[in-house]
Amino acid sequence: MSKNKSNYLIKRNNNEYEVVIGLEVHAQVLSKSKLFSESPTKFGSEPNTQVSLVDAAFPGMLPVINEFCIKQAVKTGIGLKAKINKKSIFDRKNYFYADLPQGYQISQYKSPIVGEGSVVLDLPSGEKTVGIERLHLEQDAGKSIHDIDPQNTFVDLNRSGVALMEIVSKPDLRSLEEVNIYIKKLRSIMRYLGTCDGNMQEGSLRADVNVSVRKMGSTNLGTRCEIKNVNSIKFMQMAIDYEANRQVDIVENGGKIDQETRLFDTKKNETRSMRSKEDAHDYRYFPDPDLLPLVLTDEFINDLKKNIPELPDEKKKRFIEKFKLSSYEANILVSDIETSKYFEEVIKNTDVKLATNWITGELFALLNERNLDITESPISAINLSKLVDLIKKGTISGKIAKSVFEMMAEDDKDPQKIIEEKNLKQESDPKELEKLIDKVINENPDKVKEFKLGKEKLFGFFVGQAMKISGGKANPQLVNELLKKKLK
Ligand code: ADP
Ligand code: MG
Repeated sequence: MSKNKSNYLIKRNNNEYEVVIGLEVHAQVLSKSKLFSESPTKFGSEPNTQVSLVDAAFPGMLPVINEFCIKQAVKTGIGLKAKINKKSIFDRKNYFYADLPQGYQISQYKSPIVGEGSVVLDLPSGEKTVGIERLHLEQDAGKSIHDIDPQNTFVDLNRSGVALMEIVSKPDLRSLEEVNIYIKKLRSIMRYLGTCDGNMQEGSLRADVNVSVRKMGSTNLGTRCEIKNVNSIKFMQMAIDYEANRQVDIVENGGKIDQETRLFDTKKNETRSMRSKEDAHDYRYFPDPDLLPLVLTDEFINDLKKNIPELPDEKKKRFIEKFKLSSYEANILVSDIETSKYFEEVIKNTDVKLATNWITGELFALLNERNLDITESPISAINLSKLVDLIKKGTISGKIAKSVFEMMAEDDKDPQKIIEEKNLKQESDPKELEKLIDKVINENPDKVKEFKLGKEKLFGFFVGQAMKISGGKANPQLVNELLKKKLK
């Protein structure tokens, strides 16, 4: 990994440390039913209403693999440019939790469904590729609820058996910003694919965060600590920041980092030890005897490949090449699939550059202000497209367009209609404009004199007056040209 300006470095005394991060992201598979049962997965349902005998681990129940979840995992693997393993194996990962009735989690260990891949990050300093170690499928556990009753813990098994994709990165991340961009990129790819909704508030995307530090120049990785189950980007960043500094302090004081599993306390903003790191053998992994190895045919994989939509990286490339957008503009427009759809709809019939400015400027400001998603935009793509075109054709000025835009934001009215009703059309008739300019000149004889004596700055004043008298409707370019002629 090359040294990069944006890497997070920590200085203590005379030493400089580099922070190394690897993420295990748990992404809930977008699927109506669970990984091994037909129970629904709807978020926010009444506790224990989405639990079949399989999910509750009644004796003698047999898991049956949900083919749709397999497809979702393979599609995600394709999106991560990863190797799809034609044979993968479901194992039992044994441990005890009150909300894990089976006493084990069905997961994939040595033979995951997806192998190595990569994700490209668009950093301010340029592109960076982060390696993916693997993606495996596993069951989610139930949920223990501790805050309903002071004495008792309640268990909700709705989540028990829901399919998760665990996406394990290589230890390639080097800063809080890279973590932010990495999570957003993963989420963007999965939303394009429709394989995970990426909704962090609902827990559809959470991560175990692995952190280590090493002295600058060292090529060996330091011992890592793993912070379990962090459910927002902000908390991930806070946890990493705290943890990296904790580790540096230990090393600077002559201590040694113990590999351990830690928890992030979001209230105290600190990590604390949960348990010393368990090894794989502590879980006594073994192939689940109820499930055959999962074997995928070439045909199955190729069918999915054929139907993969254009993904953010490819879309970005096309937007840059075809529409001559800057890398920055393209990034903004492709990061969310719905935004890219809106953009393509707007530019169907009008100028790309101008449309890009209006979308990333006025429209985004409006959405931001009202806290809306692009799918909830008060202005439809078709009407924004018409507005942009009216500016492009010179029917209205940019300034008038802003007030038309504001009116459109109220009821998504056709801008053409607004212009007609309010009589906002730009005045481009030279005869009319000439009358206007004569008026300005006649009303300001002193200023005209000064101008002719060399005070050229006054030109702007004349333009301003002409625009003002016209109520902002005069075509500014023509006003400029005519004024120049008249004042010569
Ligand atoms: P485990 O199940 O023990 O957590 P995994 O292979 O599932 O192991 O995940 C290990 C994670 O830790 C990966 O994301 C990897 O990138 C990361 N990692 C490994 N070594 C380091 C290190 N020295 N510093 C930071 N992260 C690391
Ligand atoms: Mg792990």
